[in-house]
Amino acid sequence: MILMKEKLYKHAPLVLLLAGLLLWFAALSIDRFYHKQVLVWMPFVIIQLIVSTACGILIRTLYQQVHMDALTGLRNRKYFFAKLSEIKTKTPVSLILIDIDNFKGINDTYGHMVGDHVLHQFGEILQNSTRKNDIIARWGGEEFAVILFHTDTEEAFNIADRIRTVVEDHVFSCETITCKITISIGIASIEEGKDVGTEQFIRVADEALYRAKEKKNYIVIDADCR
Ligand code: GH3
Ligand code: MG
Ligand code: MG
Repeated sequence: MILMKEKLYKHAPLVLLLAGLLLWFAALSIDRFYHKQVLVWMPFVIIQLIVSTACGILIRTLYQQVHMDALTGLRNRKYFFAKLSEIKTKTPVSLILIDIDNFKGINDTYGHMVGDHVLHQFGEILQNSTRKNDIIARWGGEEFAVILFHTDTEEAFNIADRIRTVVEDHVFSCETITCKITISIGIASIEEGKDVGTEQFIRVADEALYRAKEKKNYIVIDADCR
């Protein structure tokens, strides 16, 4: 089944072209026989519309999957970088980088499957603790990033601290196993109207995270972008 689906996707343009040609060949043949009656044409037009809509839905689904992290359902790094290009027009803007503390210990103690569940549940907490327009992405491994458009340092800190507290209090579970985690957070902000490159923005947030990791379960705001 998967193999068939893979072949279908791989040769999709050719399959669609042949199906379209076949449809029109059938339509023309029947049309010749029934002498241009609209009712005879109608089913072919409807089939074509249905196929076009189905293709549109498929393209949308594939587009969403290309930008999604499969484990957490959050955005992936690719989407995150595309969105970062919008920072110039949406200042003040803040970037929150998050690293789960001692995550290797979770894997070592309870196994990778529990680790995966924790990552998934953490993704849900991030989604529930942020606003609809914020961009939440899995940065890689046990690291996450949130872009907060139209958000200054103070507001970003409040959001970050809310996330940190919720995570600290949350009991993560996988079947009969329960565990707790903490996170460290680095924040960088760009003031309204300021022009800061995306590379510098990320570097500053990363440096803040690096300093937060020295204490763990901690937040550091880096003032360099201001
Ligand atoms: P620190 O507090 O210094 O960040 O320690 P840490 O253990 O969180 O960081 P470290 O970089 O030593 O280890 C990260 C771990 O995250 C190791 C790796 O196996 C685990 N990890 C990365 N991606 C995944 C994943 O998709 N699933 C699971 N279960 N574990 C993952
Ligand atoms: Mg890490
Ligand atoms: Mg870590």
